[in-house]
Amino acid sequence: EADSANLLPLLENQWGAARLEHLRQIGRIAQQLGTPAYLVGGAVRDLFLKRDAPDLDVAVEGDTRALAEACKAQIHSTHYQFHAQFGTAILESSQGMALDLAQCRLEHYPAPAALPEVRPGNIQTDLARRDFTVNAMAIRLNPQQFGILLDPYDGQADLQAGLLRTLHSRSFLDDPTRILRGLRFATRFQMDLAPESHQQLKQALQADIFTPLSGARLWRELRYLLELEALPSALPLLSAWKLWFLLRPKPPASSTLPTLLQRGHEQIQWLQAQFPDEPLDVFIPMLILIWQDVRLSDIQHCLDRWPVPDRGRLLADLRALPGLPETLLKAKHPSQKANIWQGVSVAGILAAMAIYADNATIVDSARLYLQVQKHLPSLLNGQELQTLGLKAGPSLGKTLKLLREAQLNGEISNKENAQQWLIKQGILPPNLL
Ligand code: ATP
Repeated sequence: EADSANLLPLLENQWGAARLEHLRQIGRIAQQLGTPAYLVGGAVRDLFLKRDAPDLDVAVEGDTRALAEACKAQIHSTHYQFHAQFGTAILESSQGMALDLAQCRLEHYPAPAALPEVRPGNIQTDLARRDFTVNAMAIRLNPQQFGILLDPYDGQADLQAGLLRTLHSRSFLDDPTRILRGLRFATRFQMDLAPESHQQLKQALQADIFTPLSGARLWRELRYLLELEALPSALPLLSAWKLWFLLRPKPPASSTLPTLLQRGHEQIQWLQAQFPDEPLDVFIPMLILIWQDVRLSDIQHCLDRWPVPDRGRLLADLRALPGLPETLLKAKHPSQKANIWQGVSVAGILAAMAIYADNATIVDSARLYLQVQKHLPSLLNGQELQTLGLKAGPSLGKTLKLLREAQLNGEISNKENAQQWLIKQGILPPNLL
């Protein structure tokens, strides 16, 4: 029967010897401390899906701190953090494996969409607090029982059937973020809500369950969604699950959004390949693309409620996007085009490249800006201009701007011809050289 299945052959087959030995070691340490320990959560699910699980979550029935400190010493962890408040520890092994240890919990939801009250529990209560049956399985780590599966909700069967099933009928009311977690799992693993769970989703939406959810928690989940590589495949689910209202007043009218997002993704990959060290928030271009045909007044409430980074910037980008083809067409010189792009964020430029993918003028000048113009080092800085006799003040700023434009237009390319150019412009006296 499912509950006593020993997964040792699967574990050996699926995960390398090093990882398995790590898990055994944790089990041995737990045994010494008289504490049952279990592998839980996504790693167990991913084991059955034959996917690599980057993070390992271990649930402990006893003293998490004692186990964490013993593990820290024995696995030579390069990173260690203990949070007394939550009874959780984060460790990283020297081979770069991330390990999360947490005390088994019992959760109680005092009100819909509120944060739960948490008490220490055992593995049964810890599995009972989880979102879906496929995420509510555990594997015993203590030596005598190493590899034995605990599957009280038949998650393995649901996984095989591709079904996301809540553990009880109030699950989405307790915690509506589970709806968006479900959407992500459905997208990533091509799964579907079980019929009863879909019914519960409808009831939760009728009860307006997202209204009491904090903007911060909602935004966190939406951000994870926007970051999904398979985001285009999430769009039909947003329709089927009637969740578009979270992102925009109406579902997108045309069917071009998946293509737009796909193109946006390609542009992001292009930029990341050029500048791998430059940080880029992937979710912002995606949000711009989802909002590009929406009236700004219709999304203002989202921006008021969600802690989106740099909202002013994002709004400015959304305002600038529709006019770009015309303003770029009017711009004659490279410097004029660069100045237009300089007024848009990198995320906004990537979104523009996706929206205007068929317009070579736009795409080429955007690429030129991101690849070259944005990175041009200044030929003479303010300090150097002052050494040459110019006074500090607004006119110095203007001169710097003129220099940059001349550089963008290819009129100057080094310090010497920059100085000559300034003389020719009458900004520096001719007897200087
Ligand atoms: P992945 O890391 O691949 O996205 P995961 O399932 O490991 O998947 P986490 O967010 O790391 O995702 O969560 C770990 C586990 O914690 C989940 O498998 C689930 O059992 C549980 N969990 C996380 N969030 C919730 C929630 N809101 N409600 C109930 N259980 C949750």
